[in-house]
Amino acid sequence: MNFALSIEKNARHLLNEETPLQTVMEEAQRLTAQHFSLHSSCGGTKGRHWRMQLYVPIYVSSFCVNQCLYCGFRSPHSIQRKHLSVEETVGESQYLLQRGFKSQLIVAGESPKVSSTYLAEIIRHLRLIDVVPSIEVAPMSVEQYEEIVAGGCHGITLFQETFDRTLYAKYHPAGPKSSYEWRVHALERAAEAGMPRIGYGVLLGLAEPQRELITMMEHAAKMTAKYPDRTFAFSLPRIHEGPTGFAIPYQVTDELFVRMYCALRIVFPKAELVLSTRETPELRNRLASLCITQISAESSTEPGGYVLNTQKKSDSAKQSGGNFNGQFLITDNRSAEEIADWLTQYGHDVQW
Ligand code: SF4
Repeated sequence: MNFALSIEKNARHLLNEETPLQTVMEEAQRLTAQHFSLHSSCGGTKGRHWRMQLYVPIYVSSFCVNQCLYCGFRSPHSIQRKHLSVEETVGESQYLLQRGFKSQLIVAGESPKVSSTYLAEIIRHLRLIDVVPSIEVAPMSVEQYEEIVAGGCHGITLFQETFDRTLYAKYHPAGPKSSYEWRVHALERAAEAGMPRIGYGVLLGLAEPQRELITMMEHAAKMTAKYPDRTFAFSLPRIHEGPTGFAIPYQVTDELFVRMYCALRIVFPKAELVLSTRETPELRNRLASLCITQISAESSTEPGGYVLNTQKKSDSAKQSGGNFNGQFLITDNRSAEEIADWLTQYGHDVQW
């Protein structure tokens, strides 16, 4: 049996409703403890504690030339757009560092304002203040990624959104993102440029979820074989509510969502599994006890949402009032301290 077939067979079995979810969850939890526990005594079959990395996104620009039908930032959506200068971004970063967050993810829409030189400069500044920065931005060339890696970038996250070519074309009708090929090979270019951490993701809700997960696994498996010295990571962002006029075509239940994350853990035992604040506190707690190793906290999806926007604390009120300028709605509104407390009480070693 070839490699791709064995991934597909294993994943199909794990995703099959007839495979008891309890069995899948227990195996995912065992493997996570085995590979991520800081204490060898917790790494055996009974261990269920491990190190949990907190991280926070910094949105630096909501300008975007793309028209992704599912996104609140899409052009020409009428939102108040903002682009942070390098100095403003460093201000946001310093504030978050004082709060304890060392792991920070720089996020931006696709725009000429977000060049590799701009990103590399931000990253150099953040490295100087002891932040560990990563990026989640539009696909770039090998040379552009090299510039960013040379600045000290720790990792990249790049969601393919959907691996279904037909649906991809439908959801991305215009703009540079309409090129499936340019996007689907971006993580290979980043790896070629020397990026230490490579982060995959699909946006759940856009296409048949099981097929999406398996295709992502097959892509990642080839990369893990080619670049065994890198850290690999996966996230499964799920659309809960699209912009006005966008109906979610493939709803993913909580049970399937949990099963998919656990399947990722079993197929990629050493990969970082990442969970965002799109999900409820209850579901995040459940997944954090099963297989997640990196979790965001207190996220703002608005540029300047931590310092410049002094009304940040009223984000959730603004969101429900329809006055929202972020990319998606935050569902877990607990403070970072509350999340860290829960994780610590559960038994995890929380790293900021
Ligand atoms: S998903 Fe990203 S690329 Fe697409 S419109 Fe939103 S910000 Fe732009």
